[in-house]
Amino acid sequence: MTSTSVIQTDAVVIGAGPVGLFQVFQLGLLEIKAHVVDSLPHLGGQCMELYPDKPIYDIPGTPRTSGRELVASLLKQIEPFGATFHLGQEVSTLAPQTDGRFLVETSRGKRFLTKTIFIAAGVGAFQPRRLKIDGLDAFEHTQLFHHVTDPTWFAGKNLLIVGGDEPAMAWAARFAEAGPHQAGRVTLLHRREVLTASADAQARFRGLCDAGALQFRVGQVTGIEVEGGTLRAARITDVNGDTAPLPIDALLVLLGLSPKLGPLAHWGLDMERKQLVVDTEKFSTSIPGIFAVGDINTYPGKKKLILCGFHECALAAFGAAALIFPGEKIQLQYTTTSPRLHKLLGVESPVFD
Ligand code: FAD
Repeated sequence: MTSTSVIQTDAVVIGAGPVGLFQVFQLGLLEIKAHVVDSLPHLGGQCMELYPDKPIYDIPGTPRTSGRELVASLLKQIEPFGATFHLGQEVSTLAPQTDGRFLVETSRGKRFLTKTIFIAAGVGAFQPRRLKIDGLDAFEHTQLFHHVTDPTWFAGKNLLIVGGDEPAMAWAARFAEAGPHQAGRVTLLHRREVLTASADAQARFRGLCDAGALQFRVGQVTGIEVEGGTLRAARITDVNGDTAPLPIDALLVLLGLSPKLGPLAHWGLDMERKQLVVDTEKFSTSIPGIFAVGDINTYPGKKKLILCGFHECALAAFGAAALIFPGEKIQLQYTTTSPRLHKLLGVESPVFD
């Protein structure tokens, strides 16, 4: 291992949900910089993935927010602490080193040598639900996609979108509407006639179908046709059991995400019912230096609430500071009155009478 290929750091946070983000803040107040890794291509965990526009009423001091707004506020709040985010990659291995540090590696081969780890993995790494079709995975990122990262890539292409909820319908509508990113022929395929989306999204979608700008089909992909290493068609079986090929250039599978506990179950940490056992003094796991906060942990009385996760972050940060700065007295300071914290936050110290 060369030092250039490994990022050396004091802290790695696994998971960029609300709790992982707030962990960055609590570490920042103690002058600990963090690298944050998430398997999703965006920040916010369940808040962004499962309920971005639904209201949340139980964040202290915030009578009403939404998943999206909460994540935006958290990002604003942690801005001063300059965390580095590594998205779209799962932490796959974690190996204790003889010097007390940990070697952490992601599915994209990024490596970190870190003094502490904060597992804020929620209900697990969110993975896209996939079609189980022989040979299809070979086209991942070339003709098979589970996220849209670059809409321009689809311009002029014959596109099959598989899915029946709002994101699938919204992308189908967007690609079917006139514009620079308009795909060629756009087909949405769902296994049932009923689509799940808001009335507005349904109306937009039906309007485009009526205008002939997009096709809606009921059925399932049951096979593919490949020619010269290129995916040429998806074989679609309809509700009557009849199968026919649909020529395509690209296949966008938007069947939602399912959380998978994944590799962290094999890191030798004490677990109880798929959750990491922690103490309630510093939210340490059974391996000193590895902390667990938020939905992933368990202890007597645990409640899977964002506010509980936030509290856990504060105590875990103090637990980590004791390891990162051995022999130093770690003092609790108030953000209201501490000039040191004001400097870290990049704000003016207020004058009190
Ligand atoms: P998560 O939000 O689950 O984030 C974990 C992140 O870790 C994910 O992004 C995941 O991709 C990533 N990850 C996991 N494993 C790995 C790995 N190995 N490598 C890389 N990344 C990994 N709570 C409230 O307090 N109030 C509410 O009103 C409320 N409403 C809710 C409504 C709904 C519909 C749902 C589903 C939940 C609600 N919750 C609410 C619960 C709340 O969303 C969770 O408590 C909160 O999201 C937990 O945050 P977290 O950061 O621990 O985990």
